[in-house]
Amino acid sequence: MKPSKTLYLGLTVFLSACQQEQQPFLPQYDGIDLFIENGQVFDGLGNAPFNADIAVVGDKIVFVGNASFSEKDMSNRIRRHIDAKERIIAPGFIDLHSHGNPLQTPAMENFLAMGVTTITLGQDGYSPDFNPLSIWMKNVSSKGIGTNLAMFVGHGSLRNQSGIGMSDSPEQGHMNQMLEMLDETLEYTFGLSTGLEYNPGLNAKLPELKALAEVVGSHDKLIMSHIRNEDDQHLEASIAELLEQGQSSRVHVSHLKSVYGAGTDRANEILAILREARLKGIDITADIYPYNASYTGIGILFPVWAKTLEQFNLAKKNRRAELAEYLRNRVNQRNGPGATLLGTEPWTGKTLANLSHELEMSFEDVLIDVIGPSGASGAYFVMDEVLQTSLIQDPIIGICSDGSPTGFHPRGHATFAKIIETYVYDKQLLSMAEAIRKMTSYAASILNISDRGAIKVGMVADLIVFDPENVKANATYPQPFQLADGFDLAVVNGKIARQNGALSGLLAGKVLVPE
Ligand SMILES: [Zn+2]
Repeated sequence: MKPSKTLYLGLTVFLSACQQEQQPFLPQYDGIDLFIENGQVFDGLGNAPFNADIAVVGDKIVFVGNASFSEKDMSNRIRRHIDAKERIIAPGFIDLHSHGNPLQTPAMENFLAMGVTTITLGQDGYSPDFNPLSIWMKNVSSKGIGTNLAMFVGHGSLRNQSGIGMSDSPEQGHMNQMLEMLDETLEYTFGLSTGLEYNPGLNAKLPELKALAEVVGSHDKLIMSHIRNEDDQHLEASIAELLEQGQSSRVHVSHLKSVYGAGTDRANEILAILREARLKGIDITADIYPYNASYTGIGILFPVWAKTLEQFNLAKKNRRAELAEYLRNRVNQRNGPGATLLGTEPWTGKTLANLSHELEMSFEDVLIDVIGPSGASGAYFVMDEVLQTSLIQDPIIGICSDGSPTGFHPRGHATFAKIIETYVYDKQLLSMAEAIRKMTSYAASILNISDRGAIKVGMVADLIVFDPENVKANATYPQPFQLADGFDLAVVNGKIARQNGALSGLLAGKVLVPE
């Protein structure tokens, strides 16, 4: 007997229902390398969170939504399964200004433990002394690195390599050589960094800086600048100098701060300078770290004429009283000797005031006779909480740690955890979506990275999972090397880099290639 038409139709419906049930999850892939289920997704773009599952194949996000699959799929095709119930899934954080030597500490666990999956090195005018820099970058690639790395070339390093060194009137031949080296290095780096408060960069004048900017602009790259002077009364002039460079290229103020400026009104004045420049078409951005103490070499306290050892020895001999007076005024203006915390042996953990007391010497004599301009690094408690907080809250300001695996300042191990713990959770000064946007897609846009910093199909899978209630910035000034808690999972390029407080052992990071 032939089946009747209705029976035939019924059979077809039944068969297609079965087929639907058997349809594998994402059938176009052999398997799903990583499946993160049930999380609350903050996409990094500032949108409201939503509940979704995320599937990763290779190093890419291939699915964001509510997945359904069979037991069979689960056992045969899903290679790694993570339950993110009641936790946040976000893009990995991107640190806009970092330090460290990946050849010495390749794991970069201090960064991974606070949710950072991409760091930026070559900052403040210094990149490793390799010519070409690509040699060093290849060494990092072959040794491996725990986070991704976006590399900058340092202006000071280029000055040294092209024979300009500390000269304040470079010969044209050397200048051309520096610009040529910059041109070549920008092919594979994210931009140029300047450190105009340090040697040798501080010797550069405006025409040199503008010539550099033209080269950077011709590559559509970025100048990240440690500006010439971060003291409050010099901020306008220092930013104006960067804006001159901004006529030719994208520019960025690193670790924006006002040394001894105070209050919300002052913060608004500083932000207005950036905003007005942006309205005029200059692409200027900035980053900041959430601490009221800076950290750098003690040379920052010394005058321009006594920063190098050679200059210092001459000044000590010929201008001692003047040098002592300069140091006394400068330190007092920076909140006094109790506000300088040394981070270098044998003085680690002592303030300049402690040392002065212990040695029964004035603090300026301690600086001259005991430490010298290159004898130590220190944390300097020179910033105003209210002013810095206003800067942190502004949407055009990104987040950086300015920290490293080894620097004696809690920012290197805690910055990104502190933003979540203190600014989002405890004080509610930023919404979670906005904080995550600043630390992900906004940072990616500053670096001109279009395939990271957001959770969307097609993006590279740099992902973190955390419960905001558990996030703790454990590092302190006396104990700055304590890893952050609460980031349960860090995925770098689709691979698990760190899970439940332990490194996976994979160095899953890449030396990134600019677009
Ligand atoms: Zn700096």
